[in-house]
Amino acid sequence: MSLLVQKFGGTSVADSNKILAAARRAIQAHQRGNQVLVVVSARGHTTDELIALAKEITDKPPAREMDMLLSTGEQVSVALMAMAIESLGVPAISFTGAQIGLVTDSYYTKARIKNISSDRMAQALADGKIVIVAGFQGVDENYNITTLGRGGSDTTAVALAAVLGAGACEIYTDVDGVYTTDPRIVPEAGKIARISYDEMLELASLGAGVMHSRSIEFAKKYGVPIHVRSSFSDAPGTWIVGEDDARRLGVAVTGAALAKDEARITILGVPDRPGVVHSIFHKIAKANLVVDMIVQNVATAGEAEVSFTVAKGDLAETLVAAEAAAKSVGARGVTHDAGVSKVSVIGLGMRTHTGVATAMFRAIADAGINIQMITTSEIKISVLVERGAAVAALRAVHKEFRLEEVHAFPQAEFKPETSTTRAMTLVPLVEVDTNGNGNGNGNGGNHGPREQGMEDLVVAGVELDETQGRITLFDVPDRPGYSARIFAAIAEAGVFVDMIVQNVSEDGKTNLSFTVPREAVARAEAAVRPIAGGQVAIEPSLAKLSVVGVGMRTHTGVATRMFGALAERTININLINTSEIRVNVGTGIDTGQAALDCLRQAFDLKG
Ligand code: ASP
Ligand code: MG
Repeated sequence: MSLLVQKFGGTSVADSNKILAAARRAIQAHQRGNQVLVVVSARGHTTDELIALAKEITDKPPAREMDMLLSTGEQVSVALMAMAIESLGVPAISFTGAQIGLVTDSYYTKARIKNISSDRMAQALADGKIVIVAGFQGVDENYNITTLGRGGSDTTAVALAAVLGAGACEIYTDVDGVYTTDPRIVPEAGKIARISYDEMLELASLGAGVMHSRSIEFAKKYGVPIHVRSSFSDAPGTWIVGEDDARRLGVAVTGAALAKDEARITILGVPDRPGVVHSIFHKIAKANLVVDMIVQNVATAGEAEVSFTVAKGDLAETLVAAEAAAKSVGARGVTHDAGVSKVSVIGLGMRTHTGVATAMFRAIADAGINIQMITTSEIKISVLVERGAAVAALRAVHKEFRLEEVHAFPQAEFKPETSTTRAMTLVPLVEVDTNGNGNGNGNGGNHGPREQGMEDLVVAGVELDETQGRITLFDVPDRPGYSARIFAAIAEAGVFVDMIVQNVSEDGKTNLSFTVPREAVARAEAAVRPIAGGQVAIEPSLAKLSVVGVGMRTHTGVATRMFGALAERTININLINTSEIRVNVGTGIDTGQAALDCLRQAFDLKG
């Protein structure tokens, strides 16, 4: 008999009618012959109200008591849900996190799961009961109540699905799935039938409203198929699954996203030597500023330009830190632009398609919009454009990849039974956290303090790629259509491009770098030389190092730690680009292995 986990969010259990409706859903699944385990959040805005209540008493509520308080919201929900199911004639039993032995570490308000005892749940399920578990909560080894961080019920649900080997985890919420882009901006946006874990993570701005990133990483690690769907309709929603199940033949792009309110800062004339970018981002991180894109192209005449973006509202504070950083490393100066937006396309198909970059750049150029900066990851291309043109750029890209036709090419509904994405039973279940202070050494309790804000960060691995070479075009004109022409020529030559790095221009000219497989460097060079205009430089081979995980973007500390580890080994960084789930750097080919080793060490990863 297969087990189904159903999670109901706050809006889905906001009042008694909604609780009864959720109860009926659980019962239907039970009557279809499944074992059913339900995870619930606190009703409606309960958690916010409890936080407000605590703040009325004191500005600084002790974290332990905060968790004692917040866990009550979910406890109310499980009891009511069990009553609702019983009242409809099906046996049910509710459990708190402590009662199912959901053991976490002791970081109150942002605890991580260490272990779950499945026995009691398994017994109740075998007895034919619907089991209801309080989301978001657990206990530490000393039975102190802990919570998993805001939105943590998603993580509870996925973790239970993993530990019990459920066929799927259904997330019932107030939206009916994940869309190709925000339908409030582009009304033609369509619902995506299947998306991979990484695409969901890279779509952060679209996905985050739908699910907690940490639960997606968890699902990826344990192979749990997730079905996000509306609690107010029976229509299928969006399946978040493994790559083999998500991949669609012939479709390169799955979604497009817009981050509207960004600001760009550029540090000019940064001396090209090891350790310099580290000191810059160390200063920014110390000011607790969240950096989004980071772009550094190869140096000219011993100087590089380093650009990054922050939320528009953080610009003033960032400039103060950036000016100080520029001064301390002997850079030439700092420029900024408060009026930029980031437009991105995401898709698994990009790994195997040339031409996605070309098509994206051409669509934007045809709309008469200039691309100011470019950065890429395996499955994402992001560009920075003037804010006034951002919506037009998004629409142009959405149209170019025919994302509005998502309905016209329906995918068969995902079937957990026949898929390769499958939850597996894994005991013990431990959430990776390689970014506290690593060794978990103690102060006071049994753990030292985690780096601030690190609760959503999971570094999954470090990668080294020594198979590529780099081409840099110097002094390319900064006007619409240029990058489109370059990458059209590359695509025509049948060359696959990996990293693309273009920094903002000074005096209307900029440099454009990209990496291609080593054996294709000559072909790519021949293709672009006739249209390059300026000088073309080749690095026949380079080492590309990536730190991969979740929460990279919002944790400036990751980039800083990466740059710091490389600086310590005096490894020079030639190229930087970033995405939601990666920080990539290019270094000399001879330093690749040393760089890999020191990064593994820096992030506490085994070799
Ligand atoms: N009730 C908690 C919150 O509001 C957990 C959750 O809803 O996932 O953050
Ligand atoms: Mg929630």
